[in-house]
Amino acid sequence: HHRWHTPDNAVFDPGLLTYTDDKLRFMAELRQGIEQQQLALYVQPQMDLKQGTLEAAEVLVRWQHPRLGQLAPDDFLETAEQLGVIYSLTQWVLQQSIQSLAELQAEFPAMKLAVNLSSKDLLQDELVDFIQALLLQHQVRPASLVLELTERALTHEPVQAITMLLRLQQLGVELALDDFGTGFSSLFHLRQLPISHVKIDCSFINDLHKSDTHIAITGAIIDIARNLGLGVVAEGIEEKQVEQKLLTMGCTRGQGFYYSRPFELKGLAPWLKQWQKS
Ligand code: C2E
Ligand code: CA
Ligand code: CA
Ligand code: CA
Repeated sequence: HHRWHTPDNAVFDPGLLTYTDDKLRFMAELRQGIEQQQLALYVQPQMDLKQGTLEAAEVLVRWQHPRLGQLAPDDFLETAEQLGVIYSLTQWVLQQSIQSLAELQAEFPAMKLAVNLSSKDLLQDELVDFIQALLLQHQVRPASLVLELTERALTHEPVQAITMLLRLQQLGVELALDDFGTGFSSLFHLRQLPISHVKIDCSFINDLHKSDTHIAITGAIIDIARNLGLGVVAEGIEEKQVEQKLLTMGCTRGQGFYYSRPFELKGLAPWLKQWQKS
């Protein structure tokens, strides 16, 4: 097999040669879609459940596909990874997010944005310099940027990944462990990682008030996180009863359709103004 390098400097997957015509077409469309700026950034508010105030907003990418309509990240991020363009996508998301942070903070000084990283991003040596340069350029405090990563992202090349996390921590950005509860050796990792909070996966939260198992797991995560001095964010709150249950369990931060579905990034400032009034 021939091996060659993609823009991410990952080794090209010879398995590509076995992709179907549909898949190859989709790949070509994605490459073109990125060039033609068909990707858009959405945000979802993250709330303080007690005060009803905004803590941060998570940035979520969407693709306005010319033929298929709006696609969710789960529909195309794997393809972006296979194409070797996932890191350039991350760079674009970071650039847009940090620029928006600067604009938003002019009016809302405490505003924070959370950006999702892929596992491949943690292997890019220059990521720290890249983020630092953007923060300086836009005069944004490092602590107002949160980087979310999944446990899975740490399992491929754990030594390299954790070295990267330590460098990011030194830079002063906040780190959050995403989809918590769905991976392996979770508790071991929690103690070792330079993170400030964990996000409990929505699969436990969606039906929390109806499932004793999910209440038990969520309760255990909240207790352990607290004992380790970590914050906890519940993801996927869809109903009032779940919010109430979480509050009785001591979890005070969350996001979900109950508060807001993701909406366009440019709608965030108006949303904040409206929320302040009501
Ligand atoms: P995630 O980081 O776990 O993001 C939360 C996902 O849950 C989002 O899906 C969001 O729309 C959805 N969600 C929020 N509230 C609720 C709720 O109340 N109920 C339910 N059922 N779902 C809710 P989305 O936007 O489709 O994103 C999927 C995943 O794609 C994200 O999961 C994240 O891992 C990844 N992703 C999104 N944007 C980016 C990005 O810019 N870069 C990278 N590397 N990954 C991204
Ligand atoms: Ca996330
Ligand atoms: Ca998540
Ligand atoms: Ca997820």
